Amino acid sequence: MKPPAILVVEDESAIADTILYALRTDGMQATHCVLGGEALDRLRAERPDLVILDVGLPDINGFEVCRTLRTFSDVPVIFLTARHEEIDRIVGLEIGADDYVVKPFSPRELAARVRVILRRARGAVASAPVAAAPVLPDGFHHDSDGARMAWRGRWLDLTRYEYRLLAVLVQHPGRIYARPQLMDLVWHDALDTVDRTVDTHVKTLRAKLREIDPGADPIRTHRGMGYSLET
Ligand code: CA
Repeated sequence: MKPPAILVVEDESAIADTILYALRTDGMQATHCVLGGEALDRLRAERPDLVILDVGLPDINGFEVCRTLRTFSDVPVIFLTARHEEIDRIVGLEIGADDYVVKPFSPRELAARVRVILRRARGAVASAPVAAAPVLPDGFHHDSDGARMAWRGRWLDLTRYEYRLLAVLVQHPGRIYARPQLMDLVWHDALDTVDRTVDTHVKTLRAKLREIDPGADPIRTHRGMGYSLET
């Protein structure tokens, strides 16, 4: 099997060197660049299996890089951050990160996290809930082999967890899922989650459904209980 390809975006050469060394020692194929702009150019041309992204880059802030990256790629991202106050933004998952590591960190620990996320990314398609029928009653179409979902004839551009959340909800329209239930079903393999993880993803999911039909809101909030998909 091909070794996993990792792109390391880090401007401090001493840190980059230790990361590259740890990843290569672990049998991974690691490459490196210094600037966010360069990283985005490369990510448009190449398809690495994972990106390690420093938040404090000399040209574009790592958060911006990730936001732009998410418009065209679902590649897993691990942030490197030097500041604890940045963690909230990362853990809120609003910028689509998969994990983060706070400097100073152990390169071996980072390599171990890379392995966990690669395993998770490979298993995501296989472990995603599969709908009973390919065409669902609400105009949803679930392509479980391709891990994608269409609504009213248009494919939704979903992140991995948005997809898995929607896949759970469409499986049983009308069934109310409590937040802890959704955490178990959708985020069972996530390393760091917070209470608002479910709400944040429902919000972004709704926004993406609204892009197709501004008047429709098929996900229903049941106050104090959870969420369901309209029947
Ligand atoms: Ca830096």
